[in-house]
Amino acid sequence: AKKLGRNRFSYYAPSMQEAAVSKMHMISDMHQAIKNKEFYLLYQPIIDLESGKAHKAESLIRWNHPKLGIISPADFIPLAEETGLINEIGQWVLKESVRCAQHLRAEFDKTFQISVNTSPVQYRNEDRAYPPFEKLIQPMNADGSLIVIEITESMLMDAEDSINTKLYALRDAGIQVALDDFGTGYSSLSYLKRFDIDYLKIDQSFVRGMKGGSSDHALCEAIIVMAHKLGMKVIAEGVETEEQKALLVAAGCDYGQGYLFAKPLSMADLENFIHH
Ligand code: C2E
Ligand code: CA
Ligand code: CA
Ligand code: CA
Repeated sequence: AKKLGRNRFSYYAPSMQEAAVSKMHMISDMHQAIKNKEFYLLYQPIIDLESGKAHKAESLIRWNHPKLGIISPADFIPLAEETGLINEIGQWVLKESVRCAQHLRAEFDKTFQISVNTSPVQYRNEDRAYPPFEKLIQPMNADGSLIVIEITESMLMDAEDSINTKLYALRDAGIQVALDDFGTGYSSLSYLKRFDIDYLKIDQSFVRGMKGGSSDHALCEAIIVMAHKLGMKVIAEGVETEEQKALLVAAGCDYGQGYLFAKPLSMADLENFIHH
């Protein structure tokens, strides 16, 4: 803020230089964040719409920055992707999610799964430091079915042949795959034929606009029918109202996720949620 006189400030967008400096700070802070245990995961239940129970949850990362407080992933994941730090963060997320699922299976529910977000970058330079997920979880004595890997359509565009090989390797290890944010981005239907995907997650922008007879309602219905014909299960994201839920149930949607059921929860709150 620039001083204009006593108690008067004019706020202006940071200059290019200031922006570059704060970006550099952010990058070096991110390097420290893993060591200092500043990242943590919240878990949002995914509800089986038939039984009303949650046998799955999605892990969502948060950064508790020592000076800035809690930072949402939208504000640091892009920078982590740009710098390659997402490889390290992503490994931590995967391991932490596996640990969570192992705990929940032992204590509450033998079929529980944690759905893990991944970035396209994480599939690019796999080497000994950043092995593929199925290799990474081996030393944890982890059953692949503990996790579902969420990928986005942009990743399927990346390098089709090698991606398919990687998806097969996941499948061989028992790890399921969900296509996130379906309906946004490129949405080429040919992806659904070419890649073996277990779950389609309908993006919340479609669910939000759902009212009986609306075009979003028609789109959701069509996506559900198509996904089922192709052997996939459907998860609707961002379910906030009873009306949306009722329309989704009527359309045969398999799972729902959203504030209507639960916000992203701490591990302790998730335990309570699935226990009651
Ligand atoms: P996403 O994978 O699409 O996750 C769903 C987002 O919608 C989450 O935001 C969640 O808190 C929010 N949400 C859930 N239910 C509702 C609802 O009923 N209404 C509304 N308005 N929003 C709802 P969040 O936690 O801020 O995450 C944002 C994005 O950051 C995620 O979008 C995902 O793309 C990315 N992300 C989060 N965790 C990770 C991670 O561990 N790794 C990577 N690579 N990306 C992550
Ligand atoms: Ca997701
Ligand atoms: Ca999503
Ligand atoms: Ca399938």
